[in-house]
Formats: sequence, structure tokens, C-alpha cells
Amino acid sequence: MAADVAAAIADQDVAIRLESVHRAYRTGRTSVTALEGISLVVPRGSFTCIVGASGCGKSTMLNLIAGLDQPSAGKVTVHGRTGLMFQESALFPWLTVAANVELPLKLRKVPRVRRRERVAELLDLVHLGDFAKKRPHELSGGMRQRVALARSFAQDADVLLMDEPFAALDAMTRDTMHDELESIWQRTGCTVLFVTHNVREAARLGDRIMLLSSRPGRVVDTFDVAIERPRRIEDRGVGELSTIVTARLREEVARHGRR
Ligand code: ADP
Ligand code: MG
Repeated sequence: MAADVAAAIADQDVAIRLESVHRAYRTGRTSVTALEGISLVVPRGSFTCIVGASGCGKSTMLNLIAGLDQPSAGKVTVHGRTGLMFQESALFPWLTVAANVELPLKLRKVPRVRRRERVAELLDLVHLGDFAKKRPHELSGGMRQRVALARSFAQDADVLLMDEPFAALDAMTRDTMHDELESIWQRTGCTVLFVTHNVREAARLGDRIMLLSSRPGRVVDTFDVAIERPRRIEDRGVGELSTIVTARLREEVARHGRR
């Protein structure tokens, strides 16, 4: 997004603002520029998807926004509390499913009775009400990821940062997760920043799709997604938009290969 466009959005309508953000990694004597001069604005309440080839700096960007990492130069501003979800469920193996979901509520000192209610509500939402007392190893990968989704909602974040959260799931499970995520986003009005290398998934979920280029990572294009909700991944509009975005992505990858 052009800097002047980014500046034109009033502060109270902004969830995330990146201004000329740079991140270089030193490994021995060489330095890898993961992100070069990224400027972008994520409007409050939006569902923004970031797509880009593997290694283009998507995770680096999310970690900077989450405050897990610091930029080498530039400025990252986030309004509100962030919640995180990764590709691996990262559950605590010694805790039950319910206790895993309860943890963020405990950390925020939510009273016990209220915690119980919330955990039951969230487990129902991801269709795991009957699995509250199980341990993570007793669940399938898809079920574990659904627990992680419930736990990320338990963070009651204003800004939910998701790094390829459904990449390892089968198509059917992913479909269900898309529906659940979409309905929670609509209900809570939170801001979602969703990273994926799956263009079709981005077109299914996002209000906007930002395209990141490779080494160094820069925002090369932004697409508005004007497809009516609720959507299905097999919708014709979703397919048409992913064809356009994929072509643009391919162009970027080819351009990168020539350098
Ligand atoms: P993506 O999530 O888009 O696949 P990453 O953000 O993980 O990409 O990585 C972007 C680039 O930065 C890659 O070239 C990667 O090798 C490099 N990189 C990421 N993390 C580190 C690190 N801790 N040390 C050195 N290089 C890194
Ligand atoms: Mg990544």
C-alpha cells in the first residue's frame, strides 16, 4: 500500500500499522534481509490475509507484530491485545483439552465459574464438547488444531494473528475451521491477520489479500475481496479471484527467479 494511502486512514480505525519495517538476520558474516521497507495498515475489524511464497518473510512479519521479535529499522504499532495461533497446535501435553483452553483465561484472572462457562462454550464451538477431559495425544491432528483454535479465542484478543494455522489439516476439517473462524470473527468484531501460502484459502476468508514478494519481502499488491458471505471455498467467485492472485504471485516468483 502506498504510504500516503496508509497515512490517510485515521488512527482510531487502525489495528496494525507498519512503517518502513526492515528485518535482517545475521548468520555468521552474511546478512539475510527478510523484510525490506514494509509499510502497511490493517484496518480495525478487518480480515486481512497475507499470501506469499514460502520464505518470503510472512512469519517474520507476524512475529514482529506479535512483539516476539524487533525490527532492525522502522516502526510497528499495534492497537489492542494480540492473540496468536501457529501451524502446530502447541498444546501442553500434560494438560487436558479443557485445561489448555482455560489457560489464557486463568492468566487473565477470569473467575473460576466464568472460566468453566467459557471453556464449555468454546469447546462446543469447535465441536469438541465431548473431549474436554482428553489429553492432546488422544486426539487426531485436526482435533488438536481445533483445540488450539478454541484456545486462541480464549485469549479474547483484539487482534488475532494466525500463521498458516490450517496448513496441515485435511480439506474437510479445514472447511469446518473456516466456518468457525469466520463466525467468531463476525461475532466478536476482532481484527484477524491471517497468513497462508494457500491463495484459495485467502480468497475464502479475507476482506483483503496482501501479496508479499520474496527476498526481500515487500507488499507488491493488495486485492479487495468483494465476495458475499457466507462463502464456500468452492464458490465460483473464490475460484476466479484465486486465479487472478495466483497469476500475480507467479509473476513475482518468476521475477525473483530472474534476479
Ligand atoms: P515465511 O514465513 O514466509 O516462509 P520467514 O519469515 O520464516 O518466511 O523467513 C523469511 C526469510 O528470513 C527466509 O529467508 C528465512 O530463511 C530467513 N529467516 C527467518 N528467520 C530467521 C532466523 N532466525 N535467522 C536467520 N534467518 C532467518
Ligand atoms: Mg512461515
